[in-house]
Amino acid sequence: MAKKYNLMKSKTESIILSSMNLGEADKLVTFFSIDRGLQKGVAKNARKSFRRFGAAFEAFTTCRLYLHEREFQDLIRIESADILFQPRMLCTDLYYSAAGSVMLELVKELAPLHEPNSDTYALLSQAIALLENGEDPLFLLRIFEIKLLSLLGYQPKLDYCLSCNTIPKGTAIFLSMKGGVVCSDCMVSSGDAQFRISRGSSGFYYQALRMDMEKISRLKPSPEIMQELGQAFSSYLIQLMNKRLKSMEFLRAVYKEIPVSAGERGA
Ligand SMILES: [Zn+2]
Repeated sequence: MAKKYNLMKSKTESIILSSMNLGEADKLVTFFSIDRGLQKGVAKNARKSFRRFGAAFEAFTTCRLYLHEREFQDLIRIESADILFQPRMLCTDLYYSAAGSVMLELVKELAPLHEPNSDTYALLSQAIALLENGEDPLFLLRIFEIKLLSLLGYQPKLDYCLSCNTIPKGTAIFLSMKGGVVCSDCMVSSGDAQFRISRGSSGFYYQALRMDMEKISRLKPSPEIMQELGQAFSSYLIQLMNKRLKSMEFLRAVYKEIPVSAGERGA
């Protein structure tokens, strides 16, 4: 006699992080759900059934997913999907899609599977909306990195020296392997990559951490602050993930490693 497993049906609002073809007709979809966190699911016949899925599995899309789960089965089955929001800017503008893709890949790499985190969902959702509204992509990516690392428990420490626990008087040095700064008195030369963190960068970092995403446009960091934090965070993220992300390489190619403000880009 065949054993009977309980079938559970549910629906959840989610942001699509990526999808890839699976076998002849299916798609493997990675998504971040508002109440379940990072998830992977299979959409059967997704490549053939446009009626059930449409363009729902394109990255950056917010949809309501209808799920079927069986007991003791790892992969969720996605039965159908309703598109709630699909940003246009992220599909048509290279600068926006490059920065947005880094955000999606960071969530995919750093968030633990099956762990609900509604704050991370809100952050991602707000960042996509701000990109769609034309906020400077590189600025937004820096803010996103700062807030995401904090939400996932990887917040770097830029205020006190890791070694002597005092507030560095001038420029501090960020040690990406330790995720924190040391003051000039405690700095010793070593083989590790080291990055300057000025008082301005550290101040901006803590301001961005505290500020709500809706108000983030009020912050106006200098190009030097953007560059310092960009380099320190890139290096720290590579340490954390133990690899370079393809999306980061792409971003670098798109921006040719030169931080450019949104106003200057069209020139
Ligand atoms: Zn020190």
